[in-house]
Amino acid sequence: MLKDLFIGLSQNQFLNNAAKKYGLKLGAQNVVAGTNIAETIESIKELNAHGISCTVDNLGEFVFKEEEANEAKEQIINVIEAIHENQVDAHISLKPTQLGLDIDYHFCLNNLKEIVDRASNYGIFVNFDMEDYGHLQPSFDILDELSKEYDNVGTVIQSYFRRAEDDIEKYKNYRLRIVKGAYKEPEEYAFQDKKDIDANYMKLIEWHLLNGKFTSIATHDHHIINKVKEFVKKNNIPNEKFEFQMLYGFRKELQLQLASEGYNFCTYVPFGKDWYGYFMRRLAERPQNLNLVAKQVFNK
Ligand code: FAD
Repeated sequence: MLKDLFIGLSQNQFLNNAAKKYGLKLGAQNVVAGTNIAETIESIKELNAHGISCTVDNLGEFVFKEEEANEAKEQIINVIEAIHENQVDAHISLKPTQLGLDIDYHFCLNNLKEIVDRASNYGIFVNFDMEDYGHLQPSFDILDELSKEYDNVGTVIQSYFRRAEDDIEKYKNYRLRIVKGAYKEPEEYAFQDKKDIDANYMKLIEWHLLNGKFTSIATHDHHIINKVKEFVKKNNIPNEKFEFQMLYGFRKELQLQLASEGYNFCTYVPFGKDWYGYFMRRLAERPQNLNLVAKQVFNK
């Protein structure tokens, strides 16, 4: 299946390293905001001008050396400073593995603490993106640890996980992004059937809208978006309690439409040289995204 092929490619460290040397290629430039902070701030300003807030992700995969994790930490702190200096409407999304989760738990915890601490000085929120099952519990553990001291942290619930219902209840007082889930997971832990994943997705969203703090509904699926619109109307849930999120470069018209309808809208803005794994996961989710590649190849 194409999905498995692209997920396999996203996990190929050799291709990942090779891609870093060549800048944004194969159409990745349509879905990655830039390779540096200055370009990314310009993209954020454009989105802000349309009433769209942003969550910024410094792309990075396969971090197994302390110096690489430290570099990523410095870069994320630079992004926080740039958000503050430019007074743009944006916050941070990060992946714990980029900050050293595969190296050492406490090393990663300290890196994340430095980031969250700097962000909290400026009232900037930090979201821990969720990765594959093996990293799920340690990421929650770090969140638990940091939330003893900081309130500007939140995370993601992936509806394909069978445990998601328990997790959402435990973390209901956090700002939570709810997604379907982007990695290939075994049946033991995760629903495999799209119908089950979608049904659980809607169930979790509804539950968190009614019981949780603030819900970020992160999907490009207009069927889900329409159901959410009906649900919030029926249950008198105010717009301040939730937002829609989509990835940079995807369904741009729908992004603008939702913002112009008065919904809070946040675009996930990835940037950096390490674009390959992110791009392959997007192709795995929706092989039609290959159009982005085709357009690039034939526009030469
Ligand atoms: P799908 O289930 O892929 O598609 C459902 C239907 O929606 C399609 O059949 C089609 O009708 C429509 N559709 C979808 N995409 C398009 C499109 N581009 N154009 C037109 N129609 C379309 N995953 C994680 O595991 N961890 C994370 O931390 C994480 N963070 C995310 C943050 C954001 C902001 C977003 C948007 C996604 C994130 N994801 C994350 C990925 C997520 O888990 C899904 O893999 C991804 O969003 C695909 O699912 P979907 O709900 O968008 O739609």
